[in-house]
Amino acid sequence: MTKTELNKFKNILEAKREELEAFVRNREGIAIEKSPDALDEVQHAAERELAIRNLDRESNLLRNVRAALRRLDEGAFGVCLHCEEDISPKRLAAVPWTAFCIQCQEVADRNAAGDGSEAFDEFLVPAA
Ligand SMILES: [Zn+2]
Repeated sequence: MTKTELNKFKNILEAKREELEAFVRNREGIAIEKSPDALDEVQHAAERELAIRNLDRESNLLRNVRAALRRLDEGAFGVCLHCEEDISPKRLAAVPWTAFCIQCQEVADRNAAGDGSEAFDEFLVPAA
């Protein structure tokens, strides 16, 4: 990958990180908000649950974006963490923070969908 291409991905990833950090900051407030009115409690509980689910998803994404930026700095960007093959440019363009080539991602998704194997999940959430 050329320096220009890497810079382009860096810009995309940094913009995404900022967007997600702002989102997660806002959502954390909503997720812990308590209603003093019992009648609102059911509605609020549903909203909180949704907010927490979104927060989970966005937090995961944020972790992936941060990890991708780290790989960029380390010169390992664009290489599958699992099989060490180059990730296709088309896939990187669509999902710049991906850590896996499409084949490995499919295996990971299948495992995540629940066949009892969690070994591969380790790769999906690199330790911060
Ligand atoms: Zn792979």
